[in-house]
Amino acid sequence: MNIALIAHDKKKDDMIRFVTAYKTIFAKHVLFATGTTGLKIQEATGLEVHRFCSGPLGGDQEIGAKIANNEMDMIFFFRDPLTAQPHEPDVTALIRLCDVYSVPLATNMGTGEVLIRGLEQGDIDWRNVVHGKTEDFIEEK
Ligand code: PGA
Repeated sequence: MNIALIAHDKKKDDMIRFVTAYKTIFAKHVLFATGTTGLKIQEATGLEVHRFCSGPLGGDQEIGAKIANNEMDMIFFFRDPLTAQPHEPDVTALIRLCDVYSVPLATNMGTGEVLIRGLEQGDIDWRNVVHGKTEDFIEEK
């Protein structure tokens, strides 16, 4: 599965703790991240992470494009709900696309725990069925 990891600045420590705790599960998947989040995860865990631009510089939109192309299977987006973000429209757009394409999304560690355990026990294997179906989806509309 392709998994995206994004954390706002005040949530980056949470994200590193989370990925470290579940490193053996994450290691079985292809990881993507916004620039700074990805760098910190790489440094802390040694996992290979494909890094996009930093979030405020377009990274959220790059991940959004992958979702729209049916190339993301699960998103961990640890948001900071108490700090104004300069790229708030991008944050909203990313969450919206997850809902458009029914891509599992965790916006905090509580839901993250549930999703990562679900991933490990095969609860999102249905994503394999929808892979490559983007054109059908568009044609049906
Ligand atoms: P960053 O971006 O990982 O580059 O800090 C995250 C964000 O703020 O969207």
